[in-house]
Amino acid sequence: MTTLADPVPGGRPGDVQRATALAAELTGRGVHGIVLAYVDTAGIGRVKTVPAARLAAAAAWGVGMSPVFDTFLANDSIVTTDVLGSPDGDLRLYPDLDHLAVLAGQPGWAWAPVDRITQEGERHPGCARTFLRRMVTDAAERHGIAFRAAVETEWAVGLDPAPDGEFVPAVSGPAYGAIRQVELSEYTADLLAACAVQGIDVEQLHPEYAAGQFELSVGALDPVAAADRSVLVRQTIRAVAQRHGLRVSFAPTVSAEGVGNGGHLHLSAWRDGVNLHAGGPGRYGMTAEAESFAAGILAHLPALTAVTAPSPASYLRLKPSRWAGVFTVWGRETREAAVRVVTGTAGHQRQSANLEVKPVDLAANPYLALGCVIAAGLDGVTSAAALPEEITGDPARFAAEEAAARGVRRLPVSLPEAVAEFRTDEVLRAALGPVLADAVTAVRLGEAAAVDGLDDARVAAAYRWKY
Ligand code: GLU
Ligand code: MG
Repeated sequence: MTTLADPVPGGRPGDVQRATALAAELTGRGVHGIVLAYVDTAGIGRVKTVPAARLAAAAAWGVGMSPVFDTFLANDSIVTTDVLGSPDGDLRLYPDLDHLAVLAGQPGWAWAPVDRITQEGERHPGCARTFLRRMVTDAAERHGIAFRAAVETEWAVGLDPAPDGEFVPAVSGPAYGAIRQVELSEYTADLLAACAVQGIDVEQLHPEYAAGQFELSVGALDPVAAADRSVLVRQTIRAVAQRHGLRVSFAPTVSAEGVGNGGHLHLSAWRDGVNLHAGGPGRYGMTAEAESFAAGILAHLPALTAVTAPSPASYLRLKPSRWAGVFTVWGRETREAAVRVVTGTAGHQRQSANLEVKPVDLAANPYLALGCVIAAGLDGVTSAAALPEEITGDPARFAAEEAAARGVRRLPVSLPEAVAEFRTDEVLRAALGPVLADAVTAVRLGEAAAVDGLDDARVAAAYRWKY
């Protein structure tokens, strides 16, 4: 479980003693340095590192880093908002000791996600992880609801080096193919071993559809831990690949044409240990609250894409009939629905029933994405929103008139369109708070401006190796 209490200067009771003991243990295990990791608004993983001997100091007083990174773009240029993007100020990064992991793919290193607070000891309003902790706390306090979540990881494996930043698939076998599994057998075995050592419970690892593509799925955790795990999984996939002379991309699309890399979110709402998505009187066993939760997500999806599909490259992936879910529909086990109702197998439904949200990629900051999806779903619960009719099959088959009659909307086709939706969504903006909401808008518009005039191939190339 994730500690939901904010870090405090000097450390929360017991933190410093615990960090001191942990540092000694880590040193004994050959760990020299600790990666302090967070994800910026643009979805880029940013880090500071400290020697293992400094872990207790970091747990007590944090590690400095400028707030300017909240408005960095993927190309490392900086945009500004009313309060962010200035060279002034400093924040303190506090490692979450509960989620510290020794990195099997990077001998000598451990890793920990951080929360960011101000030098005065206040919450930093631009901290995405703090935002998600707040969403989880609010859901518990206001609704008595807890969540379980998981992020799927799809990535493309290429040869390294490859000429001119191109992507050269490291495998030639077919989608889901046995050949592909054999071709990268050593890499994927090392990856599974690294995950196991790090306590990541991998559920499946398989060759995916696109050239060089693989997918790894993990078990569900509380939302903050699930977002942390998504970051750690990617760090691990990348590190193990590098040891095998391979280069990986989590970009929404590696080449402008064809199927992209998704980062589907799985989410279930629970009350008092009971899964609200199973055993109820609604469709497929959903309770009334689970139906309303799904309805809330559907209603906010056009605006949510500004958070869940945050890169200009995201819109090369978000095309109909590619299992990316680009229409505001839900369906049981429907791969083209933006919200897929997963009931689980007979006999296992109470444990495993959940919702899968598909128009999400790994350019998304997982803390912002999960927090905003939760806010959208809870808005549906608050208003007892009615879940529309189920739509199965590919919604791309509907002509415009029929789609409109069924209430089926195409999600934004570009980042500026998504931002326009986001700007009018008071629920998401209120959940994020003004600082984070403005950061999202400014960073998205900055990314759109950065690729203005580029054709699709150049957009894909610009982001291919950023995530
Ligand atoms: N690669 C697809 C995407 O872009 C998802 C394929 C799948 O359903 O696993 O989301
Ligand atoms: Mg997949």
